[in-house]
Amino acid sequence: MSTTDAERPDWLNEPCPAWCHGDHSGQEFPEDRKHLRVQMLVPVILQGPAPRWWNIPGDVVVAEELLIAVYRRVGDRETWLAIANDSQNLEVSLESAARLSGKLAEVIEEVTGQPS
Ligand SMILES: [Zn+2]
Repeated sequence: MSTTDAERPDWLNEPCPAWCHGDHSGQEFPEDRKHLRVQMLVPVILQGPAPRWWNIPGDVVVAEELLIAVYRRVGDRETWLAIANDSQNLEVSLESAARLSGKLAEVIEEVTGQPS
């Protein structure tokens, strides 16, 4: 989805990449200006730290959702991929994400015996 010229802010002097959702409202401050893909939530099972009131030390398993976001700051060349929830955030270049994705697929296939 892309915006029409009438909806584009004056400061946006470059075309949006094909993956940008095109909504640049709320980006009045230069540090907020970025092309952003529609974010996705992925349900995951995580190991989280035990709450303080927990009598037995150790980890707890929690069901959560991780957000995957892709963005590029306006005027920048590097595209970033973020995987985040409320307590942690990993941001890597898109090239690094592709390398990680390939290695994850290899590891998963090795451990499960199934192509991922
Ligand atoms: Zn854009």
